[in-house]
Amino acid sequence: MQPELAAARGEYAHARRRLSQRLSEAGIRDGRVLEAFEHVPRHRLVPEALWAQAYKDTPLPIGERQTISAPSVVAAMTQALQLRGGESVLEIGTGSGYQAAILSRLAGRIISIERIPRLAARARSALDALGVANVIVYLGDGTQGWPQQAPYDRVVVTAGGPEIPASLLSQLAVGGVLVGPFGQREEQSLVRARRTSETGFTREVLGRCQFVDLIGEGGWAA
Ligand code: SAM
Repeated sequence: MQPELAAARGEYAHARRRLSQRLSEAGIRDGRVLEAFEHVPRHRLVPEALWAQAYKDTPLPIGERQTISAPSVVAAMTQALQLRGGESVLEIGTGSGYQAAILSRLAGRIISIERIPRLAARARSALDALGVANVIVYLGDGTQGWPQQAPYDRVVVTAGGPEIPASLLSQLAVGGVLVGPFGQREEQSLVRARRTSETGFTREVLGRCQFVDLIGEGGWAA
């Protein structure tokens, strides 16, 4: 194991176990999801000045006026994806790379898209330092998806848009699931869409949430 990875795993191990227990008490039932939260060192994906706060259930600033979502929100979205292992996942909004690191333990291959170059570069190097090898970070407008590697078994959108971008639905495999926040700029519904056939989709609302803006052609104007 790389020395930095070993160090990251040792740091805050007790706080991570407690976080996983709290998520379980709050209703996260998927044991694989709870285990991922126990293992991924969230502190290593936020600025060092915030390490001591990394295992509180709160969003934290990551620069560029963006945030890493609260662990309970990441857990609820991850559980809603219903991952069994081996899936190809498209994530829109790499941010810190935390959601991608969680997904890396639960699925096969993660394509994560970030529109802000500094965040994409920082997430890439943090993921490398943690030895996460099955996440590819691309720079671009995630509302257009990443057609080169479509279809995806799962799509997770981690910024709030007015509606589900059509490109993302078209890049979802039949039987696939998309989870993300859609609605008003101030508050969104957490939506799960399922592709039931080439032309058929179902949608359900899982709750209310507040995310930073999804900015791009299929989102809000910058
Ligand atoms: N998943 C992230 C994590 O684990 O830290 C949190 C994401 S943060 C709440 C939302 C991110 O979405 C920001 O980094 C923002 O720059 C990014 N974003 C917004 N619109 C985007 C777009 N069209 N394409 C790609 N990324 C976008």
